[in-house]
Amino acid sequence: MDVRNVIIIGSGPAGYTSAVYSARADLNPLVFEGSVTAGGALMNTTEVENFPGFPDGIMGPDLMDGLRKQAERFGAELIADDVVEVDLTVTPKVVKTATDTYYAKAVILAMGSGYRELGVPNEKRLSGHGVSWCATCDGFFFRGQDIVVVGGGDTAMEEATFLTRFAASVTIVHRRDELRASKIMQDRAFANEKIRFVWDSEVVEILGEAKISGVRLRNLKTGEENELAASGLFVAIGHDPRTELVKGQVDLDDEGYIKVASPTTRTNLDGVFAAGDVVDHTYRQAITAAGTGSAAALDSERWLSDHD
Ligand code: FAD
Repeated sequence: MDVRNVIIIGSGPAGYTSAVYSARADLNPLVFEGSVTAGGALMNTTEVENFPGFPDGIMGPDLMDGLRKQAERFGAELIADDVVEVDLTVTPKVVKTATDTYYAKAVILAMGSGYRELGVPNEKRLSGHGVSWCATCDGFFFRGQDIVVVGGGDTAMEEATFLTRFAASVTIVHRRDELRASKIMQDRAFANEKIRFVWDSEVVEILGEAKISGVRLRNLKTGEENELAASGLFVAIGHDPRTELVKGQVDLDDEGYIKVASPTTRTNLDGVFAAGDVVDHTYRQAITAAGTGSAAALDSERWLSDHD
């Protein structure tokens, strides 16, 4: 039986950074990149301006291509396939794709999380062209502009309040006539002069050719539709960690994120580590994912040397 030192599941900034570190530690890591979205969330965006070391910014796919090449340069083996089943409770740990079975002493989980989409026309086409899921990432591009934020929870209030630093106006569109957000976040949004609310309404279409020019809204009580001009749309209706694969084996929190013994990347299972957005509710940035990815590689390296 061929037992690898470490298998890494996921190919975003967390997975590839783990791979760079593990490969440079001569651990010969095997990385499962996924069959459709190798490179992770940044493959779907345009310019990334906040990843350190790129003073002029870098396109998301170029950044991920660089990280991938860096992992390969030091000997990481990459497989563009999905892991469909794991048994992380046995020794060695078992990792399966649809066609093959692999074994490893240690496993790093870096499957990321997916932002929920509105599922309306033009959303995918205009992603990165005015449609965004991350105010910290993209707010800076919207200086002096009119922005729509969709959502009624804490994230939506936080994104909207943050965006008022740049935007001329921020309109929060919410399906109901009251917010789910905590009182303090609501109060902050209500007190902000740049924020206004459109209640009982949903976005039914995103408008624009090369860039977003507005949204079509429908009032859910009256059925009435109208257009609202905007050059930015931030979707803040939640995100889901990709943890189906490990559910029932690895401890998850109430929202389905992997629990780790912070500040380490150790999970409840010996020899299983987790990094990036699959763990992180709070920061959800490429650099924080890369940071915890390096920590997972270092944690697994130490664990392997203690168990050899
Ligand atoms: P991900 O990047 O989500 O990668 C996880 C990978 O694992 C995916 O490729 C997935 O297919 C793979 N995977 C999952 N399950 C399996 C499986 N079973 N088998 C094999 N592979 C699997 N952050 C910034 O810092 N700056 C920005 O400007 C910025 N812009 C963004 C723009 C957009 C549109 C989005 C969506 C996000 C943006 N972010 C930005 C956030 C950033 O992309 C994420 O925080 C970061 O990518 C998280 O990295 P990760 O490695 O944890 O997961």
